[in-house]
Amino acid sequence: MKKNIRQALTGLQATETSQGLPIPGRDMVENNAGGFVFKLDEWKQLERFLILGSEGGTFYVSEKKLSADNANKVLLLLKKDGVKVVEKTVEILKSGRAPKPDVAIFVLALAASKGDDATRKAALAAVPSALKTGTHLLKFVDSVNGLRGWGRGLKKAIQLWFKGRKNETLALQLVKYKQREGWSMKDVLRLAKPVPETEVQGKLFGWTAKNEKAEWAKAPVAPGDKALDFVWATEQAAQLKLVAEQADTAEAKAILAEANQASVKKLVDLIVTYRLPREALPTEALNKVEVWEALLQEMPMTAMIRNLGTMSKIGLLKPLSDAEKLVFQRLTDAERLRGAKVHPIQVLSALRTYSSGRGVRSAASWNVSTKVVEALDEAFELSFGAVEPAGTRHLLGLDVSGSMSGGEIAGVPGLSPSAATAALAVVAARTEPWTAIMGFADSFRNLGITAKDRVDVATRKVSGLTFGSTDASLPMTWALQNKIQVDTFVVMTDNETWAGNIQPVQALEKYRQATGIGAKLIVVGMTSTGFTIADPDDAGMLDVVGFDGATPALMAKFAKGEI
Ligand code: CA
Repeated sequence: MKKNIRQALTGLQATETSQGLPIPGRDMVENNAGGFVFKLDEWKQLERFLILGSEGGTFYVSEKKLSADNANKVLLLLKKDGVKVVEKTVEILKSGRAPKPDVAIFVLALAASKGDDATRKAALAAVPSALKTGTHLLKFVDSVNGLRGWGRGLKKAIQLWFKGRKNETLALQLVKYKQREGWSMKDVLRLAKPVPETEVQGKLFGWTAKNEKAEWAKAPVAPGDKALDFVWATEQAAQLKLVAEQADTAEAKAILAEANQASVKKLVDLIVTYRLPREALPTEALNKVEVWEALLQEMPMTAMIRNLGTMSKIGLLKPLSDAEKLVFQRLTDAERLRGAKVHPIQVLSALRTYSSGRGVRSAASWNVSTKVVEALDEAFELSFGAVEPAGTRHLLGLDVSGSMSGGEIAGVPGLSPSAATAALAVVAARTEPWTAIMGFADSFRNLGITAKDRVDVATRKVSGLTFGSTDASLPMTWALQNKIQVDTFVVMTDNETWAGNIQPVQALEKYRQATGIGAKLIVVGMTSTGFTIADPDDAGMLDVVGFDGATPALMAKFAKGEI
């Protein structure tokens, strides 16, 4: 309706405006490439920032500037409606929609420090539940410490983080995340000073603070409480240091090896009995296949996904082994993935690294299990959750212009925005049976990507593709010229379009008028800038965020006309 009124008033819909100019009468802004686009709604920009972050910057903007720009916009929004900022941030943290929680944690700290009374209160009230793990808590403490003082409100929020957890959960967090970001749990306890409400809580705090009364943790016998027994077992494991098996004689070597073997056996017993995680073990123990075999049984999904290379290297994850079967079953278990809130980017990152057979940051190499690679490929798709397809005709246009090769999505090595679009396109094509995948820069062409491609292979198909300038109107003009019937155009881009003689929204309008199809446009934003090619006044256009866990479901709903 809004659009009809505007068109009646201005009669601008049929005109063609070069992308280097704003459409007359419309409020447009210049993007970083010198093209004119729409300004993204400020709440949508917050969403992009919370999900995509600013890590690695973009082709045009450095990480530092992108972070500063976004942080300034957050401050403005905090003034405007701080409580709403907190609500959006907490939703992102709780749903696990973002590849990394870091930006949301930073925004929560900002709200807890720079917001008005109601905002600060809302942010602090969210601390115990929105910060799920000890890492999250320590990251929050690191951010908030530089922004405000340690007043009563902050102390109380953090006290509740410790006191509101079940003893066993708390014990696990204290052991697993002893220190992060230059902060230790001991530091945080010292600053927040929670008063224990139960004897067990008191003992856990005391052990973390390393006070002398914690001798129970080093006693020869377990204390007989599940949470305390767990901590006790980590102390037992810490004693079982393995020695280097180096000696002058074969006999002496054999003795050392035997001693180590006995320690490994004890460690395995502790892991199995008390469910000790990797973080509780002496470093040298992580070279032993028996230790990894024991760890794997109860290993959380995200840890398993991160350690696939290590488990192959160590010789546990071999073709046709029990371990391989277990890993395969877990990775392809939709419910398990959902329960563990595994983010698609974690899976994609693991798939790219694991299938390459070598570590990104280390010299480690391993024999690749093809079953694990297959499972990761399936897990990638499953990690977006079940999506009911719209069944409409989709034309996907992937921006493969030069600017899309700059920056890294969520800090994943080598995962440029254009590579990321290829992964998203494969998922979209597997979801929607009638999908064509094409790419654009200064021309529109077939990229050779299909729904059957393994996602990591698809990401490699676009790397190294550079064909010059950027014209995001090409999907629509190409479809019109070639008489292609499209219900839903999906353009995955950084919105830095500049080279066309017609604005993307005008090309869409022209397509609609010429074909009589009320075609929709979904813009998948791949960088956290404030630009979009979608007309905010047109209900037939939607902005979504690339690598938001919720994106495929949103796209299908929109294509179906449900939103
Ligand atoms: Ca570009």
